[in-house]
Amino acid sequence: MVEKETSLSKIQRLVSEQTTIRNVATSAHIHHGKTAFTDNLLAAAGMMAAKNAGDLEEGMTTWQHSDEQERLMTVDAANVSMAHEFQGKEYLINLIDTPGHVDFGGNVTRAMRAIDGTFVLICAVEGIMPQTETVLKQALRERVKPVLFINKVDRLIKELKVTPEQMQARFIKLINDFNNLIMQIAEPEYKEKWKVNVNDGSVAFGSARENWALSLPFMKKKNVSFKDIYKIYEMEEEQRKKWVWENAPLNEVILDMAVKHLPNPLEAQKYRIPKIWRGDTESQFGKDLVACNPKGEVAFIITNIIIDKRSGKEVAAGRLYSGTIYNGMEIYANNAKKKSRVQKSWYIME
Ligand code: GDP
Repeated sequence: MVEKETSLSKIQRLVSEQTTIRNVATSAHIHHGKTAFTDNLLAAAGMMAAKNAGDLEEGMTTWQHSDEQERLMTVDAANVSMAHEFQGKEYLINLIDTPGHVDFGGNVTRAMRAIDGTFVLICAVEGIMPQTETVLKQALRERVKPVLFINKVDRLIKELKVTPEQMQARFIKLINDFNNLIMQIAEPEYKEKWKVNVNDGSVAFGSARENWALSLPFMKKKNVSFKDIYKIYEMEEEQRKKWVWENAPLNEVILDMAVKHLPNPLEAQKYRIPKIWRGDTESQFGKDLVACNPKGEVAFIITNIIIDKRSGKEVAAGRLYSGTIYNGMEIYANNAKKKSRVQKSWYIME
């Protein structure tokens, strides 16, 4: 029997291909569903990994972590790499956790350094709230590109009992409000360029809690109408799960959106480095950063340091802007002003 590729070896293979990487995060006003969204995205990615590894017939059963996965997950449950196939090509989506509260200004900025794009969640009932504006400002200030997810659409159906037409009108208003914010906040060059658009799939909507999402391109592909969404709520739970899995899977819709609309590091570093780095972009180091050069000097920004509970060792998670890190390498830590040896480098995966 030919052995299937493990998720870890797949990630190791994909990580060397810069154009197929997306470094992303989720940003939202508190209680708009960031935790539910992230949890379901990761759970689905885990199921896909198991399915691809041949462990699962339908992919709908709960996914069991292997020992190795378990270990990596305990190191940092928040930052995860997910393999995703889009139009016949494989991508690696690194989902980085950003602090949930806007008070941690410094941490948010550091997290923004690690990503190039973000899913901004808005509750369909509440709409844009003060922290939506704050997180969008933080992203745009760092030239992190946003895409939009309108969450809690189930509440429109179950609580507000809106018609399909009213639902669409509400989406249009939310999208306009969001684009108006981009127009106000973004630098002139990005005002038009980074507006979201329902037709091209840079906007998706759904219910993070109930694990479904749709975008117009996905609806066209699956032949799903706005009226069909209402049927979800007339179904028994098992039937609903099955329908959602086949017609509106949150992870597929969201990761498609990331691949299609968020930049890869090679594209992003061209315009982000001059913005977020004060050095001379004409120097060799500057050129390596802008070009995301794997042969350049190592430039790694640490977004968080965790103490691994099992080994007691410090584990640094972050973003590699240039160079290549390998085990045993000595790296100069800028803040600590000392050199440390890399004992093991790895990717955190679902
Ligand atoms: P966070 O503060 O942004 O991380 O939000 P949470 O994910 O913790 O969600 C806040 C509350 O909204 C929780 O009670 C969730 O169960 C609920 N919630 C999240 N997503 C949805 C959704 O799609 N629909 C509904 N009705 N509730 C949701």
